[in-house]
Amino acid sequence: MRNTPAKMTGKVLKATRATYEVMLENQVIQCTIRGKLVVDDENYASVKVGDNVTLLLVNEMEGVIEKILPRKSQLTRTIASRQYKEHIIAVNIDQLLIILSTKNPRFKSGLMDRYLVIAEKNRLHPLICINKIDLSNAEKFAPYLDYYQGKLGIPVFFTSAITGEGVTLLEKSLQNSVTALVGHSGVGKSSLIKAIQPGLDIKTAEVSERTRKGQHTTTHVQLFPLLNNSFVIDTPGIRELGFWGIYKKDLANYFIEFRQYAHECQFGDCTHIHEPGCAVKSAVSRGEILEERYNNYINIFESLKSAHYER
Ligand code: GDP
Ligand code: ZN
Repeated sequence: MRNTPAKMTGKVLKATRATYEVMLENQVIQCTIRGKLVVDDENYASVKVGDNVTLLLVNEMEGVIEKILPRKSQLTRTIASRQYKEHIIAVNIDQLLIILSTKNPRFKSGLMDRYLVIAEKNRLHPLICINKIDLSNAEKFAPYLDYYQGKLGIPVFFTSAITGEGVTLLEKSLQNSVTALVGHSGVGKSSLIKAIQPGLDIKTAEVSERTRKGQHTTTHVQLFPLLNNSFVIDTPGIRELGFWGIYKKDLANYFIEFRQYAHECQFGDCTHIHEPGCAVKSAVSRGEILEERYNNYINIFESLKSAHYER
């Protein structure tokens, strides 16, 4: 007697050339795409990490993906070798967890602001984590807590993967979400995930990637399920990530607190850098906008100017 194959929905954790790891409610199975996907929209012609899919179960371990369900977001980057080409890293990501360390490597607020631009641009809910707090005095970072969390409403966590400080709070913030981790190598991304879930090593995928330096299309991106219905994904470095489609003239829009002032600038196309009658600059001089963040804005602006992003 033959059973009709069971139809189910699942989440794609990993995509390799022809097979996909898909998480069902209680297990992970291997899937292929046999024949053609059911496609309503050209954007849904290829399966990405993070996709929710419907599939037919072939047996207990294998399935065939039939259709991609609507995506709510996508994280993209430019492909270095093919300028301007947009590449989807993963889809259906809810949050961007920006991880920095107090030292080793040194804390850079400029990097934090760059990642915040990416979060804003990709419509991801940002979270800031300042790790290795055991190596520093938390008070040194209080101004960031005041401004980014207090004024901008972006959660700021102070953690130590070594002492466990702040890890429970961080873990809670990941619950029921798909979170992309970003941060320079060495800030403690892997250690933090291990502190949340001992045994899980998000670096496994990264190592195989390094041997193929330069071949961006073969980069492995993987979604790791944690126990509390959360998923994390370790994304590639800042240089490759998401300054796609950011133009000088739009940059200020991604600095969320600038918006409330920008419409009061004397010039409609004010860049908030050198123009007279700039309301953003006045807000900086009144201390309403953090000067350090404003300086980061100028630096990012200048970096866009010399890049190929001018419109
Ligand atoms: P990743 O490259 O961002 O994944 O960073 P890793 O998790 O590999 O950590 C890099 C180094 O920093 C390792 O030697 C860790 O032991 C160390 N490290 C990670 N988190 C902390 C922390 O909170 N405090 C201290 N003191 N060291 C840490
Ligand atoms: Zn202005």
